[in-house]
Amino acid sequence: MARSLDVRIVGGGFAGCVTALTLLNGEHPIDANVTIYEREPSAHTTLCGEGLSDHTLRQFKAFDSTPYIAQSFEGASWFFPEGIEARVHQKGHTMARERWIPAMAQEAQALGADYRTGVKVSAEDVARMAREADLVIGCDGPGSVVRKVVGGHHETMLGIQYRVEPTGPSPERLLFYTDKEYSTEYSWIFPRGDVWNVGLLASGDGHDWERLDRFMADKGVAGKVRKREAYPIGFFGDKVQEGNVVLVGDAAGLTNPITKGGMSAVVYAAQILAACAHEGKLAEYEARIRAHPMCDPSFRPALAALRKWSNEEFAQLTRFAPKLIDVRPGVSTERAYFGVLAKTILANLGKMNDVRRIVHALGVSREYSW
Ligand SMILES: Cc1cc2nc3c(=O)[nH]c(=O)nc-3n(C[C@H](O)[C@H](O)[C@H](O)COP(=O)(O)OP(=O)(O)OC[C@H]3O[C@@H](n4cnc5c(N)ncnc54)[C@H](O)[C@@H]3O)c2cc1C
Repeated sequence: MARSLDVRIVGGGFAGCVTALTLLNGEHPIDANVTIYEREPSAHTTLCGEGLSDHTLRQFKAFDSTPYIAQSFEGASWFFPEGIEARVHQKGHTMARERWIPAMAQEAQALGADYRTGVKVSAEDVARMAREADLVIGCDGPGSVVRKVVGGHHETMLGIQYRVEPTGPSPERLLFYTDKEYSTEYSWIFPRGDVWNVGLLASGDGHDWERLDRFMADKGVAGKVRKREAYPIGFFGDKVQEGNVVLVGDAAGLTNPITKGGMSAVVYAAQILAACAHEGKLAEYEARIRAHPMCDPSFRPALAALRKWSNEEFAQLTRFAPKLIDVRPGVSTERAYFGVLAKTILANLGKMNDVRRIVHALGVSREYSW
């Protein structure tokens, strides 16, 4: 009889818990002795906007996450300069991660995993585990020590966020804003019942909190700030495997570079890993990750253009667009707005490739980033 796989997971946060549950209770369950090492005294959430699409939530079948939905939405709105709104008609949620992650850790234990807290794993420990175990999974976030053993690089960027106890009514959608007044990338308002997550992707120039204060005031977000936090986000990871040591989540740098949504990438990477383990083809993990839309090649040039363009350039680019652009599941936005896109491209021939890549990257991100 085949023996159980010895699996060690470094990091018991979102990626560690989702990976453990997917291996033990997903579509391709494996017979495994799973040990999870978490450096903090208990399972906890790291900083997050907590926005997640209903599509992704339904893909994560290894655990009933419904009780941890904080608020549900019919969609999201992405605002560009001059008030152009792309309204994405796709159901989404904000998740109460401070309850969700500990509940997942508890479920992993109920399924037989050993969740050890207060264990800070070093790169030397990882090298030893790689010799002892069948599979070592780095789920230790953007500052990963497992990455040191795997090699390769990922980029990081700081996200900053307030938790606000609001005084006004909740928006009907998750709100994103591309506006260089506040962020070189974007800012967001994600309500979750009694608390709103209000944040931005930071430039690190020392004025990001001032910009976030201005963003809140300009968007009319009033209320008591309960918490103020900053945390890095890992993306553009160029290597996720070295032999039997693999990476998942922000350690892998698989967070979507455009939206910086990382939970969806965790769900898909965990599924790919479980399928590889189930089929006895662990060596294929890296190749299967690279072939997945979460690593779409349009992301790099699209992000470069989104970062580079000024508000004036965005206004110039969207001048043929209607004030409200409807983005619907199963409908190609490129085709639905073909006339607008054609005029935009003709008037901005120098930016043609970037425009097409951005439209494509946003289309992929709509499905695989939140
Ligand atoms: C401001 C902000 C907003 C975001 N908003 C969204 C959003 O709305 N939607 C979305 O999908 N994503 C969002 N993200 C990204 C998302 O939060 C991350 O992709 C996700 O939390 C990554 O989970 P992770 O488990 O890989 O890493 P982490 O959350 O960093 O967890 C790593 C875990 O490993 C532990 N650990 C670290 N080092 C060691 C060690 N040496 N030994 C043992 N344990 C260790 C840590 O204590 C932690 O528990 C946001 C991120 C930020 C910063």
